[in-house]
Amino acid sequence: MSIAENLRRVQERMAEAALRVGRSPEDVVLVAATKGRTPEEIEEAIRVGVEAVGENRVQEAEAKFPYIRLPFRKHMIGHLQRNKVKKALKLFDVIQSVDSFRLGEEISKRALHRTVEVLVEVNTSGEETKFGVSPEGTVDLVGRLLELEGIFVSGLMTIGPLTEDEGEVRRAFSLLRELRERAERELGVHLPVLSMGMSGDFEVAIEEGSTMVRIGTAIFGPRPS
Ligand SMILES: *Cc1c(COP(=O)(O)O)cnc(C)c1O
Repeated sequence: MSIAENLRRVQERMAEAALRVGRSPEDVVLVAATKGRTPEEIEEAIRVGVEAVGENRVQEAEAKFPYIRLPFRKHMIGHLQRNKVKKALKLFDVIQSVDSFRLGEEISKRALHRTVEVLVEVNTSGEETKFGVSPEGTVDLVGRLLELEGIFVSGLMTIGPLTEDEGEVRRAFSLLRELRERAERELGVHLPVLSMGMSGDFEVAIEEGSTMVRIGTAIFGPRPS
């Protein structure tokens, strides 16, 4: 299957999932997850309709982005170390993986005259290998980040648990939605973005309120090892 056909199928499945729960398909943004993909593959995806790209590593983005000649929005979706923030801010429009106040402070310090859009990454599954603030610490972290200049918190992000158990996946996503609601209520802010859902679980995520899915293999095929 070509990237164009895969993308069309993903977009159809996204729309069907949204309609199943009475949501509008336009309310869910697709970010193509492009780790391990070549600039040529990424450019092809943009040519056939992808508008936003997510990369996991600063170095990889730095090596690839200059070779992509079409315009696209750039999301950092991987773990970000504080010593890479300066470079990350040159490369990306959105940082989806803020999971500590110290990282937020570093972004704020390096933002200069710009306001950087960030999402707070939450570890909704409790898996130890995952990054992200704990569910219990989420509202507090969002509140503290809101005090910083040069940062704009637009929502929350999570990676679903790696399991075949759909109930468990659904619980993680509904937890993120509940945390968003709690943060909005307790802090009096609007957090429109819920970034959740990947190739294996994006339909469940959309049913649970996702406004942004990050999809790699369903668009580009299995990742080269
Ligand atoms: C790789 C990755 C994705 C996409 O995963 P697929 O299963 O290939 O769709 C989404 N989000 C993050 C943070 C990733 O690292």
